[in-house]
Amino acid sequence: MTVSTTALPQMHHVEFDAGLISRLSQSGPRYTSYPTADRFSENFSYPDYLHAVAHARTRGGRHPLSLYLHIPFCDTVCYYCGCNKIVTKNRDKAVTYLGYLKREIEMQGKLFVGLNQVEQLHFGGGTPTYLSDEQMVNLMNHIRRWFQLTDDDKGEYSIEVDPRSVSAERIHRLRKQGFNRISLGVQDVDPEVQRAVNRIQPEDMTLEVIRAAREATFRSISIDLIYGLPKQNLQTMAQTLSKVIAANPDRIAVYHYAHLPHLFKPQRRIHEADLPSSDVKLDMLAMCIKRLNEAGYVYIGMDHFAKPDDELAVAQRQGRLHRNFQGYSTHAEADLIACGVSAISSVGMCYSQNVKTLDDYYDCLDQGELPVARGYKLTMDDVLRRFIIQMLMCNFELSISSLEQAYPIAFNAYFDTELEQLHELAELGLLTINDEWISVTLKGRLLIRNICMVFDRHLQHARQLQSEPIRYSRTV
Ligand code: SF4
Repeated sequence: MTVSTTALPQMHHVEFDAGLISRLSQSGPRYTSYPTADRFSENFSYPDYLHAVAHARTRGGRHPLSLYLHIPFCDTVCYYCGCNKIVTKNRDKAVTYLGYLKREIEMQGKLFVGLNQVEQLHFGGGTPTYLSDEQMVNLMNHIRRWFQLTDDDKGEYSIEVDPRSVSAERIHRLRKQGFNRISLGVQDVDPEVQRAVNRIQPEDMTLEVIRAAREATFRSISIDLIYGLPKQNLQTMAQTLSKVIAANPDRIAVYHYAHLPHLFKPQRRIHEADLPSSDVKLDMLAMCIKRLNEAGYVYIGMDHFAKPDDELAVAQRQGRLHRNFQGYSTHAEADLIACGVSAISSVGMCYSQNVKTLDDYYDCLDQGELPVARGYKLTMDDVLRRFIIQMLMCNFELSISSLEQAYPIAFNAYFDTELEQLHELAELGLLTINDEWISVTLKGRLLIRNICMVFDRHLQHARQLQSEPIRYSRTV
């Protein structure tokens, strides 16, 4: 089936080609970073991070920071979940965690003193709203002590909210605490699907939170959906889409459920017989694209849709869109400082990931060290390929001459092997290529990961050695 959405007047479109997708969809990274996190090494440690920060200080041109806080706790487990979280009803655990998180924030704040203006703040998890109001106020005050947050109209301060954990009043209070963007986990509104994934979230509960967020003047309301969940079919998906579109959020993300029970334990509780077939999943995706385009949403890329006046869509039109560990962003130049268990920072030419368990996290901080577990120092080749992958992911095109001006390479000579693969993808209709530009076609946009994988030297190398385990989700 081919569903073309090109007749609509939006600037960014996408074309669904079921034949091409069935043929080319494969396991591949989501490229929230390049190199991807599975390339990080334990040889990278706390002193390497300190060195990267010291180097950031010597760089010319100061850019505001991006700050990420990871709150790992959840009340109950959703069976599809692949996040790093701790499921507990014991609220005391959060009290201890917050004490240590505040220590880490203080240590990072001291490292970045003088460079500590934060234009982008994101609370993710787990469930950030697992924290009480009082804990959130206390944490935000602590952040303001060590970092400078900008004005409400300049800063992008977002929080992931589980509608099951908040009241309308709480949403108003989050706005007063400084958050101005909100994203809500919905996944599917069908009660049977919700039961199959252990996430019971009555529709009214979600609508109430959206209503409150709008009243409280959040600048952007985002909803997350998932296709490919157990008990889902075209009818349930159509209903979910109708209800979500009627609620009129600014952004909608439609993620593909990746069933990887060998990697994510909660997924073992999903009955495989309840999962929709690949054909049904493709039809669901086609329907999502068609319905969201008809409703006026622009395809941003990699599962994300936004209203044409939403800042992500505007940034994409202006070539300012960026991608980091939280997905698409408008803050291209920012170093990212991430605090909390398993959080990943990106400072200058390095990535640094925190330890993954609470015990290790507390031990490191007790010893007066930042809890760095592993990381990666980018080479110039990595920086070049990161730039290319960013351009393709965010803008669906790459100017070869601009690249050659910015980096000391001759594109055709440097990427001769990649060019062969690109020409194969061009023959399949995923992209066009000439001396000046690589441009992703409308039907190539859904397979953007396949195109980026051509430039992933680490992945190509692992494949040559045939040492690539299945750790990625499928590209569509
Ligand atoms: S999906 Fe979200 S709320 Fe559910 S278990 Fe995972 S992190 Fe927690």
